This record gives sequence, C-alpha cells and structure tokens, in this order.
Amino acid sequence: MSDRLDWLAEALDPLRRQGLIRRRRRVKPLTDGYCKIDGRRLWNFASNDYLNLAHDPRVIETARSAAQIAGVGATASPLVSGRTDWHARLEQRLAEFEGQEAAVLFPSGYAANLGTISALVGRGDVVFCDRLNHASLVDGCRLSGAKLRVYRHNRLEKLRCELEKWAGPRRRLIVTDSLFSMDALAAPLPQLCRLAERYDAVLLIDEAHATGIFGNHGRGLAELMAVEDQVSVRVGTLSKAIGSMGGFVTGSRDLIDWLWNRAQTQMFSTALPPAVCAAACKSIEIIMQEPDRRERLLSRAESFRLRLRDCEFSTPADGIGPIVPIILNEPGSAVMAADELEQQGFLVASIRPPTVPRGTSRLRITLSCAHHDEDVQRLADILVRVLPRTTTALT
Ligand SMILES: *Cc1c(COP(=O)(O)O)cnc(C)c1O
Repeated sequence: MSDRLDWLAEALDPLRRQGLIRRRRRVKPLTDGYCKIDGRRLWNFASNDYLNLAHDPRVIETARSAAQIAGVGATASPLVSGRTDWHARLEQRLAEFEGQEAAVLFPSGYAANLGTISALVGRGDVVFCDRLNHASLVDGCRLSGAKLRVYRHNRLEKLRCELEKWAGPRRRLIVTDSLFSMDALAAPLPQLCRLAERYDAVLLIDEAHATGIFGNHGRGLAELMAVEDQVSVRVGTLSKAIGSMGGFVTGSRDLIDWLWNRAQTQMFSTALPPAVCAAACKSIEIIMQEPDRRERLLSRAESFRLRLRDCEFSTPADGIGPIVPIILNEPGSAVMAADELEQQGFLVASIRPPTVPRGTSRLRITLSCAHHDEDVQRLADILVRVLPRTTTALT
C-alpha cells in the first residue's frame, strides 16, 4: 500500500541527524520550584511561572471553588454562552491593572496575536515586524494578508526606511515583543512610539514575558519605559507570570469592541474555563499587592547575570529580567549542557533552531520567586564547573 505520508519519515531523518529533533518529556510538577523527571527531583529553572503563582495556595483555592460552581469547561464560545461572571471580572481587572478602558480574553497569547493582528490589518495594508518577534506575532502578520515587512532586530533605521517607503497604503501596523525572551532584551519602545507617531502607524506590543515583572506596578515594559499612553494595542498572556492560561488584549473601548466583533480566534473558540479566569484574577490581585515578589526576583536575576558575565559566559550584555540565556552556538552543545545540568539536579531549557537563528543555540535559564539565593548560587557554581567541559568535549 502506498502511504502518502511516506515523506514524513524522510523529513524527520535530517532533524534527528542534526540534533534538532524535539524530545517529549513527562514532567511531574512539584511545589517550591521543583519538578520530577524520570524519577529524579530537579530544580525547575525552565518554567515561565516567574512569580511562583501557579502553585500559590490562594490561587489554587480560588480556582477550586470556581470549578466547584462553574464546572470544568466553559462549554461554548464567549459570544454564545461561554462568558461568565468570572470572565467579565477578569476582563475588568485586566483593564484596571493596565490602566486601559477595556480588555478582551483569548484562548491563549498565541491566539491573541493571531486574532488581533488579522483584525487590525488586511489586504492593502502594511505590517512591520521585528525579525526576532515571537512566532505568534509573525503568524498573525502572515494570516492578516497585509504586506509583511520584516526589519532587522531592533534596527530602527531599517524600520524608519520601510515606514517612509510604505507611507501610501491605507493602514500601517508595527508589531513587536516588548521583551525578546530568547535574548532577554527589551525593544526600544520610546523610539518605536515616536516612529509610529511620525509615520502615522499603530504600535502593537506583546508583553508576554514582561507583565507582572517590570514597572512600578508590574504592568510591563511599557510602564517601565513610561510609554503606556502611546501604545495603542497591548497584548499579554495569563500563562507566564500570572501562572494561569489564556491571552488578552487591553486598549480603548473601540479597540476592544472591534476585537469582540472581528478577532476570529476568540469568536470561534470556546471561552477559557471559568476556574482559569478566577485563578488569573487572584494572581493579578497578588501581583498588585505584593511588589516585593518581582523586586526580589529582579535583583536576584541581576546578581546571577553579573556573576555569569564575570565568568565570561556568552550572555547578552543588555539583558534584563528573570531570563538569562547562555549562547553555546551548536545545538549539540546546548543539549549536552542541559543534560549535564540535569545530572546535577537542575532543569534548564536548551533552545535550538528554528526557535533561535542557526549558530545561536543556547541554554535558557529562567529564575523564579520559588528559588532561594543559595539555589541560584549553586546553579552558577555548577555552570562554571560544567560548561567548559561540555563545550570542549564537542569541539
Ligand atoms: C509565550 C508567548 C506567547 C504565547 O502565549 P501563550 O499564552 O503561551 O500562548 C505570545 N507571545 C510571546 C512574545 C510569548 O513569549
């Protein structure tokens, strides 16, 4: 029998040979920043739960009691019958938290970008996209059908030239991550705002890794850089520092009304489970009330970063926040280093193409509030001991 999927085996083969095949692992989550893999207890330095809210007893209790009343699934899309009090309260809280007129929820951050970009631009429009933007922003641009102009990472002169060149078409949209999570680098938001203003473009920023972490109130990099009133569209996720699941957009009442009517990824998908919304609501309350969580995390990350730089590891010089990458170039080196760390009791992500450009495979270490200073110290000690050995073994 001829199998029309024969090509899959052939396509998978080079991935295996180049060390690019993805491993599916089973992780048993434990509290206090640990997890268990293959029976071994590991410190989890590979999670996006920066503030340790996914395991906060107050958040769990809130989710539990919502599930008891509302059940597990939302049972319909938000516009049909899936939008409950928990959804409405979360929308309200997100709008208040970000100081915006309104908010709308999406099934995920990924879906938020797809739905929002394609609702704001289409054929006859132009969208400008940083080359290192998250895949969901790039896919949103492609889905929209607008002309896609990709500019070199954070190269504002390139972007300016493109904006100049494409001044004619109906609408212009600039999309960017606020924190580029593979390098832990911030986008130059004030300059982007000025360019958007000057060339009559809308600026959409994705604060996925910044919400809850940066700024006086934890609202993200737009707050830290004091440009909140100049950014028209703010996308975020509930799945990282907020520790829950789902995506959201905040902005003007008109923007949100439009997304309710035109963002297909929320219109044609089932609403988030009410318990998930209840949990996210509680987490945001904690983020508002306990600024010391993010402050401790940021200062710990800063010392860790300095220590690694002192040891001459290749980590981006302007990096900020709880993500600390160490560039090891070859995918094999990154995987071997992660394996070695695992032997030592630490779970750290190895990131390879296509997630990052070729030749820039890396370890990505993510600190969280669950870790103690001593653990972070120990990880640094082990990195110093282990990294030269694992990389030289390969060359
Ligand atoms: C993680 C991430 C997303 C996706 O968010 P999910 O809620 O996990 O789907 C979108 N954008 C950026 C920049 C991200 O880092």
